[in-house]
Amino acid sequence: MVLETIDLIGNLKPGDGLLADAFRRPITYLRISVTDRCNLRCTYCMPEAGLPWIPKAEILSFEEIERVVRAAASVGVRSLRLTGGEPLVRRGLADLVAQLAAVEGIDDIALSTNGLLLAENVRELADAGLRRVNISLDTLRADRFERIARRPGLERVLAGIEAALAAGLAPVKINCVVMRGQNDDELADFAALTRERPLFVRFIEVMPVVENAAAQAGEYVSSDEILARLRTVDRLEPAPGPGGNGPARYFAFPGAPGAVGVISPLSHDYCERCNRVRLTADGRLRLCLFGDYEIDLRTPLRQGAARDDLAALLHGGMLIKPERHHLRLGEASSRMRAFSEIGG
Ligand code: SAM
Ligand code: SF4
Repeated sequence: MVLETIDLIGNLKPGDGLLADAFRRPITYLRISVTDRCNLRCTYCMPEAGLPWIPKAEILSFEEIERVVRAAASVGVRSLRLTGGEPLVRRGLADLVAQLAAVEGIDDIALSTNGLLLAENVRELADAGLRRVNISLDTLRADRFERIARRPGLERVLAGIEAALAAGLAPVKINCVVMRGQNDDELADFAALTRERPLFVRFIEVMPVVENAAAQAGEYVSSDEILARLRTVDRLEPAPGPGGNGPARYFAFPGAPGAVGVISPLSHDYCERCNRVRLTADGRLRLCLFGDYEIDLRTPLRQGAARDDLAALLHGGMLIKPERHHLRLGEASSRMRAFSEIGG
């Protein structure tokens, strides 16, 4: 369902209060894709040749993103996450962080990254106001990294993790998509990281998208199985987790400074706690991870919409935010670009 923004402007009044959807879920979290481009080609996410990239002219400028964030903050959004694509391939990202950190009402800015460019950028990002980071890493073995990400880079990602810890970002979370036969024999190695460092390793059930449709049935490992396998390593107690807006359930080994988490979009979906909407790189407000629930913000932005007009559009979006996603194993989402970060 795509709402025509033109129908909304004028029909909705600004100042309708804080954002909440029809199911009374307060919406306080905005994920912002700053680019659809990426310097990796993870097999479960993108084709080897890349995607038909969005033309540059259609990508929101930093100033346009800031205007959306000002509107969102005026109706209760407090937390932001910058993501992509790979957000660090967008030049000047620290400038955007500084711009958004200065928006009244925004008190938390996080980043989801594959970590390749993190080590050289993390200081500047932290100085600009970045608080925390999620780094994607599916394997600790260089040859596998190259197979899964279709490009080399393990050492750089590991350096990025160290640099994030050294820069004082907290929490530092690691997102690991678990695939049977590809990396599921590394669960214990990843979990071991949480015993030594304040790292939060989150195991993500692989989601069905077009790219991995053929492999998904065989590769899928449920979070219950992941936890059962970790419990054979050592005692694992439920843990509070590091906070934030995430859908993970956390567990820790005795005395560990970090924790492991599981994110179960398929087996235990977290829709009932959904607090988020997404802004695509080309300015669409996406109301749900999957499905065509979106409104175009770029047109009104470029027509000079004021903050309250944009806020009214955000309220309008609430009308079409569905109660839950209906994706099931075996059904690939036809909207690859819509898949922006489960745990990112
Ligand atoms: N490039 C950044 C990164 O990799 O962290 C940010 C964008 S990426 C789309 C965000 C997260 O989505 C990553 O943790 C990635 O592993 C995860 N992801 C992508 N495709 C997935 C899939 N089919 N199933 C589960 N997680 C997926
Ligand atoms: Fe790039 Fe992240 Fe997708 Fe991997 S998961 S291809 S790093 S956007």
